[in-house]
Amino acid sequence: MQNQDYIISIDENAGFCWGVVRTLEKVEQCLEECSEKNVYVLGEIIHNPSEIKRLEKKGLKTLLKDELINFNPENSVAIIRAHGEPPSTYEEAEKIGLELVDATCPLVKNLQNKVKKYFDKGFQIVIYGKHSHAEVVGLRGVCDDKCIVINSSEEALSKVDFTKKTVLFSQTTMEKKEFQSIAAALQEKFNVENESLSEGERLKIFEQKDTICKYVSNRGQSLIDFAKSNEVVIFVAGRNSSNGKSLFTVSYNANRKTYFIENIYEINKNWFENAKQIGITGATSTPQWYLILVKKEIEKILSLKK
Ligand code: SF4
Repeated sequence: MQNQDYIISIDENAGFCWGVVRTLEKVEQCLEECSEKNVYVLGEIIHNPSEIKRLEKKGLKTLLKDELINFNPENSVAIIRAHGEPPSTYEEAEKIGLELVDATCPLVKNLQNKVKKYFDKGFQIVIYGKHSHAEVVGLRGVCDDKCIVINSSEEALSKVDFTKKTVLFSQTTMEKKEFQSIAAALQEKFNVENESLSEGERLKIFEQKDTICKYVSNRGQSLIDFAKSNEVVIFVAGRNSSNGKSLFTVSYNANRKTYFIENIYEINKNWFENAKQIGITGATSTPQWYLILVKKEIEKILSLKK
């Protein structure tokens, strides 16, 4: 207990997921080992401005993919972030002679390989995800952009060709429940459209691969419990974080007094009116050190209010 009047706790399940920790370790290692070189990351390394600033202070620079074509690769190395990249990025880097360090999360790499395998086998590829999200851009790339990206059952039912053998995948950070309802809606329609086939044959025409990352899906229940056990919840994430948006919704649905912030300056003292139990949590891209900073800031605000 920090004070007799209130308790502020940090969600012990919040903080970086394994894939992000691994990527950041590679970045730090690269910054150390390639101190003579310019170290770039292709796109935003992580959807968290505070962590980006910390790494920029150590020398990390950001290179946008559009800039690749005219980029002078001399004395430079570029890191591929956890979301992964389409094959065209590797080809462009090779063309201009840019050295790459691949820090794609192995779970994303595995998903890319699966999509490619099914695409090569002639399946219609359906991906539950966000069309322009970096991970989906990579997935679209491995199947020559010949896939259907959908966000809901309605969209899936209107876009999928039910005469083709089909596989449904998910971006790793999407909602499990929604994936299940899309899979059920597609399965039903495939059964109806292919009624003349035997059950065994019908199972072969539609496959569903739940490729939602367990670091995201497992957090759901613990986050609900955490949100319910606090009167006010401060949810910390970058505004660009897809995982941050979906976990915020989980927390908000469990506790309407959940407030989203990207940095400590957004904390509003009025949120804590009469609150005795305050919780701090965040996305898989939110660093623990920033959650501690948020806690200190709230303590400061509450002590000034006394
Ligand atoms: S959320 Fe999962 S898939 Fe995404 S980077 Fe983290 S461990 Fe990898």
